[in-house]
Amino acid sequence: MPKILFIQPTQYGFGGKLCKQKRIYLPGLVFPLLAAMTPSNWEVEVLLEVVDDVDFESDAHIVGIGTMGYAMWRGVEIADEFRRRGKLVVFGGYMASLVLQDALDHADAVVVGDAEISYPRLLQDYESTGKLQRVYDNPVTDLSGLPVPRYDLLTAKPIGNMLPVQAGRGCPFSCSFCSIACLYRGRYISRPVPEIIRDIKAIRDFGYKRFYLIDDNLVSNEIFLRELALAIAPLGMKWSTQCALMVGDKPELLALLKRSGAEMMSFGIESITQAGLDKLNKSWLRVSEHERLIASIGKAGILVSSEMIIGTDSDTESSIRATYDFIRKTRIPIPRFYILTPIPGSELYEEYRLAGRLVTTEWRRFDVGTCVVEPVGMSAERLTELFWWLYNKVMSLPCILRRTLFHPEAWKAPRAYLFALYVNLHYRRYLKKRVLPNIL
Ligand code: SF4
Repeated sequence: MPKILFIQPTQYGFGGKLCKQKRIYLPGLVFPLLAAMTPSNWEVEVLLEVVDDVDFESDAHIVGIGTMGYAMWRGVEIADEFRRRGKLVVFGGYMASLVLQDALDHADAVVVGDAEISYPRLLQDYESTGKLQRVYDNPVTDLSGLPVPRYDLLTAKPIGNMLPVQAGRGCPFSCSFCSIACLYRGRYISRPVPEIIRDIKAIRDFGYKRFYLIDDNLVSNEIFLRELALAIAPLGMKWSTQCALMVGDKPELLALLKRSGAEMMSFGIESITQAGLDKLNKSWLRVSEHERLIASIGKAGILVSSEMIIGTDSDTESSIRATYDFIRKTRIPIPRFYILTPIPGSELYEEYRLAGRLVTTEWRRFDVGTCVVEPVGMSAERLTELFWWLYNKVMSLPCILRRTLFHPEAWKAPRAYLFALYVNLHYRRYLKKRVLPNIL
């Protein structure tokens, strides 16, 4: 029986050690979905390196490696070793799609973008010829008819209390730093609501009461979102997702989401300077509205988690220091930060390259915790230093407690704010080891 081994690589932390955890809190959905699409004459194994060890003695015929951002470079090492041992190696995921030529240097084949059409073709090619094409590039325009993901492959691992369910893919916006914008270019496609509900029920059958709605921007299609929330509500489950901050301007929609079980939402707030947002092609988000929208979401009883970028051309020492004041004032319960890092293969990368502003082209250093471009008004080293100063200050115990246990809205969702406290302490532990929490 032919066998395919899927591997999600971890990444290297400070000091060159591989990042490992006892538990993975937000496991990805791609491999369980592909496993469900695999014909029954194939054996499938899934390995998440952050909690599993890679077995290079594997009897798999094909090794499929996911490439999420910086972890791709660990994926390259794994690929090289398996190929040295005579295995066929396939890369998939957004990073390999964007740096296709480099990915092809280390793999027998690369699946560009969505895998739903490419993957069955790839298996067929192997079955009929024993070989693979170099590139499989078949964008998906319809997400209906997908099978229930093989959740059993995730529940067999040490995971947290949530399983993932896909709602939609892509985003109508085109923020310049965003991998989703690079791949989907303003497209958003959603799954049929009955199929999403079927998957949520499957999760419930596994004994889980919480799920993570995977979607790049859940508020992309409001009609779809309302229909989905109304269908989720009777299931009595709690859920989290990510979407654009503008949802804070829709109190009636927020109330519906809360009633349907929405517990936590993650928002790309990016910058506290409007020039910074404009530069990121995100001028539809207004800095003057940040505080009001964040407060409105908190008031609806939904926990706010945020992503912010340090190092836009409008950032100065004082704006980075003011970002700490912003977090203190808005009391965002779960804040995350990254240094502006143009994704290799993206238009933003080309822009920095043509301007001669790349400090390095060694992609292994593009870890979003190291400044790799020449910032304005300070050195790359100074920006990196300020970034870590900010993150550590935001993760000080008094600051964490103020925005979690002592948050004025905590009484509306006490479990969620306790969860936020736990997540912050978890992040704090990793930041002390100089590991960013983006993969955890
Ligand atoms: S709104 Fe979010 S998902 Fe959409 S392009 Fe911008 S950063 Fe990417």
